[in-house]
Amino acid sequence: AKRVSKKNYHFFDDEIRTQTINELEIENNLREALLLNELEVHYQPIVSNRTKKIESFEALIRWNSTKLGYIYPDAFIPIAEKTGLIIDIGAFVLEKACSFIADLNRRSEMKYGVSVNISVVQLMEDHFASQVLQIVEASQLPKDLLTLEITESMMMEGNENILAKIFYLKNQNIGISLDDFGTGYSSFNNLIRLPLSYIKLDRSVMKDSIVNENVFKLLESVVIFAHKAGIEVVAEGIENDDYLKRSDAMGIDFLQGYYFSRPVGESQVKKILNK
Ligand code: C2E
Ligand code: CA
Ligand code: CA
Ligand code: CA
Repeated sequence: AKRVSKKNYHFFDDEIRTQTINELEIENNLREALLLNELEVHYQPIVSNRTKKIESFEALIRWNSTKLGYIYPDAFIPIAEKTGLIIDIGAFVLEKACSFIADLNRRSEMKYGVSVNISVVQLMEDHFASQVLQIVEASQLPKDLLTLEITESMMMEGNENILAKIFYLKNQNIGISLDDFGTGYSSFNNLIRLPLSYIKLDRSVMKDSIVNENVFKLLESVVIFAHKAGIEVVAEGIENDDYLKRSDAMGIDFLQGYYFSRPVGESQVKKILNK
């Protein structure tokens, strides 16, 4: 994987993330974003720590609004959840991601996987599980190449209904990844009761592990537990060599972060892979 110059998007990041657009304005424009084709899915490579080769991609939504400019998901996903728009947006991301990766795999010897972020609002829908299966089957992506990223905050309510859907999808060979591990709600309970394929260590705890030896030891123990339980571990926010060394020392399986690549559009993915 190619490294992307850091300078460019730091500049880009600062400029965009400091702008404040009012929620109502976002809500009004988001309703039309799908129809106007303003939503796009970008992909961030996830590499094997052993081979440093790309194994899969995380799908991340992007919104380039004609009226409001470029808006990051942190600014509009919560509004999409509040208004229920996340149902259609989430289905759009799933469809896009599965069909793009299926298409990519047709052109290559390598079978790439794809991870898609799922909102709790989607999981609460009655037909969520059957919809996921329908989408992945229509795309002809083998089911075991799709992973759903869920967060621990979803499990807070202890909703048996949600848990049942997660087990059902896992039994259908779809991967389940516990996202943002180490932020807020981390609990033993989630680690032992969820049918996990992956744990994703949040970039904030990865950062802490560099300066705080106890954080390092705790994450190292999480990796040991995960491997004993047949779960693989992904480290997020890998930005430089310090993170790489820490990840190695912890025995991390997969790496994701700006050090390898920022999230990029479809044509850029093909370029990176020479497809
Ligand atoms: P997340 O799932 O934790 O995604 C990782 C975020 O970290 C992404 O931000 C990614 O661009 C960023 N990132 C990756 N590598 C690095 C790094 O090395 N350094 C730093 N500083 N950041 C890095 P992004 O794309 O802005 O997404 C933010 C959040 O929005 C996501 O956090 C996820 O919770 C949510 N999101 C994004 N796309 C979707 C989607 O399609 N559906 C749902 N429900 N949520 C989404
Ligand atoms: Ca994620
Ligand atoms: Ca995450
Ligand atoms: Ca996050």
